Amino acid sequence: RNQGLGSWPARRARKTPQRTATIHQDRRQTYAQLNERVTRLAHALRELGVRRGDRVAYLGPNHPSFLETLFAAGLLGGVFVPLNTRLAGPEIAFQLADSGASALVYGPSHAELVDGGARAASVRAHVALAGPRPGAHGYEDLLAGAAAEPIDEPVALDETCMIMYTSGTTGRPKGAALTHGNITWNAINVLVDHDLLADEVALVSAPLFHTAGLNMLTLPVLLKGGCCVLVPGFDADGTLDLIERHRVTFMFGVPTMFRQVARSPRWAAADLSSVRLLTCGGAPVPPSLIAAYAERGLTFLQGYGMTEAAPGTLFLDAGHATAKAGSAGVPHFFSDVRVVGPDLTEVAPGETGEVIVSGPHVMPGYWGLPEETAAVFTDGWFHTGDAARIDEDGYAYIVDRMKDMIISGGENVSPAEIEKAVLADPDVLDCAVIGVPDPTWGEVGRAVVVARPGSGLTERRVLDGLAGRMAKYKIPKSVVFADELPRNAAGKVLKSVLRGTYGDR
Ligand code: ATP
Ligand code: MG
Repeated sequence: RNQGLGSWPARRARKTPQRTATIHQDRRQTYAQLNERVTRLAHALRELGVRRGDRVAYLGPNHPSFLETLFAAGLLGGVFVPLNTRLAGPEIAFQLADSGASALVYGPSHAELVDGGARAASVRAHVALAGPRPGAHGYEDLLAGAAAEPIDEPVALDETCMIMYTSGTTGRPKGAALTHGNITWNAINVLVDHDLLADEVALVSAPLFHTAGLNMLTLPVLLKGGCCVLVPGFDADGTLDLIERHRVTFMFGVPTMFRQVARSPRWAAADLSSVRLLTCGGAPVPPSLIAAYAERGLTFLQGYGMTEAAPGTLFLDAGHATAKAGSAGVPHFFSDVRVVGPDLTEVAPGETGEVIVSGPHVMPGYWGLPEETAAVFTDGWFHTGDAARIDEDGYAYIVDRMKDMIISGGENVSPAEIEKAVLADPDVLDCAVIGVPDPTWGEVGRAVVVARPGSGLTERRVLDGLAGRMAKYKIPKSVVFADELPRNAAGKVLKSVLRGTYGDR
């Protein structure tokens, strides 16, 4: 029997055939319709040569075909590979080659790139959403011509379901090989800890190719039989319109998205009475943002996780948003988290250590990278590479990435803490702090600052601004100015690039 994600549409169609599964630009799809399209697509992919274990890549913005392709690959025992649409041509080519994808479904936004020759050698079948195109089948044509008989290919929970690439903040993105069980247990964690209901209406404006939009929002809602409003791109006014029009109950975003929504001229008058759940993750939620939503009677659930853990690891429930402000919370129901020192024993409350996580939602390993996999696991515990401390009540506070921590004269210094302080100056548009070698202290901090043009900001002013606000050993010893900071497609600063450029001058 198929125990994996590929069976979800059929199971839902059996239980709630007439309920709405997705809404996309006012087109509704019921679970019965979703199931039929998934079945047809699976038959078509099989005709195109896709077999058990083959990788099927998807490249395009949020659209029902993303989910159809995911489920159809799962029906055949294939492996889904969502690609980040913001990546450049060579990065996309790398992920296609690395995953060895044999089929690629792509949207009109990438038609020029794919048709223009950015084709990986492994890809035998190209499927264009707005097709047919030269060298590519048309998605709708394939569906129309395919059989609709149910497919029941046996798929076990421990088989690979998808390869999701990490954001590439600390190095080249690695493919996390997540199993059907990993995704399912993560979805169950969300259902249990966020109290999802069957009549949830989720606004999916976070990209589906990122783990949060897919695994913290969309898949848990579909498992429960709710409805997902798929939005191809995020914009603040559009978000408020959609919340009102579809009576949205559940939304996920990163802090930047929620900030833009609260700054919309429509914010004050918007009807938000349907909204029950707001989850915010990927980065710490600033207190000002919490306050702006609290004024409208809305509280954030905050989350911490990573691609390798499918991703939900820690969460802070709405009831503790104020009492435990700044905390990433406690482990999800089926997740075990410890904060440990180098000898792998748990650190005392208040001390800083590395976050390690174990649970049925954690990947068995990286795709094709046995050495990298061995390097991040000890006795079934995944090393996140993130530094945190735990308070007396067991609430975790993420401090920084271990790799980014600076050790100055034997003291641990968190660049994130210094960056926050430097950014408090309105003349600072952006800032990142890196460690540079120092003969006396071993390592000292250097701030790379993007100044507001024409502000005349100087090194002296930046450093004086920190004096008296933090311990002397934490204050960077130098400041360099840059026009912009290197960021990856997920918007995260690439410290390794900064260290290469500014690390030894
Ligand atoms: P790579 O692993 O390729 O270097 P990445 O770690 O940025 O990239 P993701 O899996 O997208 O790739 O991000 C997970 C990381 O994001 C976590 O390990 C952590 O460093 C950071 N993160 C996630 N949630 C939070 C949070 N609530 N607070 C602080 N940091 C967070
Ligand atoms: Mg990572």
